[in-house]
Amino acid sequence: MSRPPNAPEPDPATVEHPATHIGCERFTWMLIRWCVTHARELIAADPGAAVLHPEVDITRLAVFMPPAIPSGDTISLVTVDIDHDAAMASDLERPIIVAPIPPYRGKDSGSVVIDGWEQVYKALHQFRQMLPAYVLTTQTEHTVRDPFPYTPPEWR
Ligand SMILES: [Zn+2]
Repeated sequence: MSRPPNAPEPDPATVEHPATHIGCERFTWMLIRWCVTHARELIAADPGAAVLHPEVDITRLAVFMPPAIPSGDTISLVTVDIDHDAAMASDLERPIIVAPIPPYRGKDSGSVVIDGWEQVYKALHQFRQMLPAYVLTTQTEHTVRDPFPYTPPEWR
């Protein structure tokens, strides 16, 4: 996005989802949604928008993978929808993106992968335990957050 020279830095709290973002990639987790396209743009423009961790342990994310053999008799818990062929063609050198989830009622909410579930899937298939990851700063997370109308006020 361009803005006039000498214009003040936009306040991340008031930045709208860019109007030019048509068909951008978004990730939804429970009641929060992020614009992945915007996150990648911010990181490309300013390395300080995220912290690059060369190795993040992804083994515990296996619980969110679709079951290899659907049994039909279990309750489907939180599962990320993944296309096997696309996932196996993904680039494991491309850092995934992790967003800190904003605190809820004053309690830490942890973090979530908002981009790179295909890499996670492929890595787990290859028995790899680590992937490179960009962890967004809290400011970047807030800037790319794209809440639903029903998202709780604390998460807007
Ligand atoms: Zn967008």
